Amino acid sequence: MGKIQLLADDVINQIAAGEVVERPASVVKELVENALDAGARDVQVELVDGGCKSIAVVDDGCGMEEGDALLALRRHATSKIRSVDDLYVASSMGFRGEALASIASVSRLTLTTRERSAAAGTRIELDGSANPEVKRNVAAAPGTSLSCRDLFFNVPARLKFLKSPASELGAVSEFFDAAILCWPAVRLRLVNNRREVVAAAAAQPEDGRIGESALRTRAAAVFGNEVAAQLIYVHEADVHASVEGLVSPPGVEKVNSKSMFTFVNHRWVKDKTLRYAIQRGYHSHLLKGKYPVVALHVTVDPALVDVNVHPAKTEVRFQYGSEVQAVVVRAIMKALRKGDWARPMFSPAPVMDENTPVREVWATPATTSWRPSPMASATRRVYDAVTVPVRDDAPDFSQAAPAEIPWAQMKFLGSVGKCYLMFTDGDRLLAVDQHAWHERIIFERLSRDRTLLHQSQTLMIPELVELPAASIDALRSGLTTLVDNGFALEITGETSVEVAGVPSILAHRDPQEMLSLLSQKGFGSSATADLAQDLLATYACHSAVRAGEELGPDELARLMREASEVDFQHNCPHGRRVFRWWESDQIGRWFDR
Ligand code: ADP
Ligand code: MG
Repeated sequence: MGKIQLLADDVINQIAAGEVVERPASVVKELVENALDAGARDVQVELVDGGCKSIAVVDDGCGMEEGDALLALRRHATSKIRSVDDLYVASSMGFRGEALASIASVSRLTLTTRERSAAAGTRIELDGSANPEVKRNVAAAPGTSLSCRDLFFNVPARLKFLKSPASELGAVSEFFDAAILCWPAVRLRLVNNRREVVAAAAAQPEDGRIGESALRTRAAAVFGNEVAAQLIYVHEADVHASVEGLVSPPGVEKVNSKSMFTFVNHRWVKDKTLRYAIQRGYHSHLLKGKYPVVALHVTVDPALVDVNVHPAKTEVRFQYGSEVQAVVVRAIMKALRKGDWARPMFSPAPVMDENTPVREVWATPATTSWRPSPMASATRRVYDAVTVPVRDDAPDFSQAAPAEIPWAQMKFLGSVGKCYLMFTDGDRLLAVDQHAWHERIIFERLSRDRTLLHQSQTLMIPELVELPAASIDALRSGLTTLVDNGFALEITGETSVEVAGVPSILAHRDPQEMLSLLSQKGFGSSATADLAQDLLATYACHSAVRAGEELGPDELARLMREASEVDFQHNCPHGRRVFRWWESDQIGRWFDR
């Protein structure tokens, strides 16, 4: 007898479930996406123990008739595509027809559904692979509610991989944050063990775009009022893509990338190339090791993006990837360089505490009977403490100070601690970090006029620099870039390099120090454009006046002149703040006036 057998349907389903259903968060994701595909405007998710015990998703979407409801639970049953060609233009969240069958095969499922026009609904109960039990004419609100209990009760091997209810809730919550940012027009609410975790009212989109106000309303629910109020609205479009969203100004940063949300055609994706584009947009505005807060919607022609790369559809493939990236980079760069964020754009938002009624968080009032539970305010999440609001000193911050410094009117008062330059225009006091300031000015001048970078100064006597063999290897791989940017070098041995010329702007720095620093740049791995940007920042940093060095009067006058010519000076190329204003009445308060 042969050894090969066809697998039974329930085994096939359980295997397929492994791809789609990993943990409660993936069940929530599939069910919420189904609700959205069904046109729901209100989706509520109720968990018990982070979804480990039960997950219920209730929507007010189109509902299903009995025949469809039974089919929906079968594998490869979908209403969303008919042919393979449809795959490439599908605008729905799902289309593989796997989710319900997979979830049903690894849990105890109850599906209650009613079409709006029907007098009553249908209820189907399924216990793992058991035959469905159908109840007709049950009382039900229009829409669909799905309850999934005891996830993996029949697959012990998977059950043991579930984490604690708290960490499963964390994963659901992350998806929910993304959902709130992704679908601003849909009311969403997440409850765990009868307590509201997060909720967001529907926000009104603008014509042809989501709009700043809708984005801010939803961002407030996810990031908290204070952070949301500081985010910068970006909008940029060309033939390849349109980009809209909110991004944080320098100074509002996180220690990890969890607050970077990217959406492609209203689908939450964790796409590396988009993330990379965002980082490039932030180049020279973000501290090393810090991540921005971002909610960015990218819209492209559905025919030019493949969302079917991954079963959970969290990765996409763009036909014109670098063009799409370029729009993202441009959108962010433009917004940051405007510099409006350097002064408070919004009156400080009220800080939420447990006495703040939840409704205040929502800029758009709910217009139907849907209301948060009375417990809501006491049980809402505490906004995570990782956020570093730049305006932690907001009362201390000048409201009227101009975003640009009127250098021609500034009078130099003196320097403090050989590092901070003090100026006044008669009404205000201005403190400037001399190194960060100088560094930014050089960086801006170099970026505008690359020929400055290429100018080389020949050394009278070539200098032999000794470096570890690994550094020499690194320099070898970056030799062309270095030579293109002002160095005259020859590698003369395993651990030695002869320097005959250096970039003019670095003429006063020690070649040994500069080369060992540059050898750490990782020439092999970075793209040329980024490397050039990095070199600019390194050159700028090392040619700028340092803290502790004294600036002569002529040099200061020249810097003030150059500063008024560059179009950006709010932070240094590493993301540190350059200056700070104080109004005379703020100073008055120091003296209780
Ligand atoms: P897919 O979403 O890939 O089509 P699913 O297994 O998730 O596959 O769902 C199967 C079908 O069941 C869907 O195509 C849809 O027609 C129907 N369906 C699922 N959930 C809902 C819902 N909440 N409301 C209305 N119809 C639904
Ligand atoms: Mg689906």
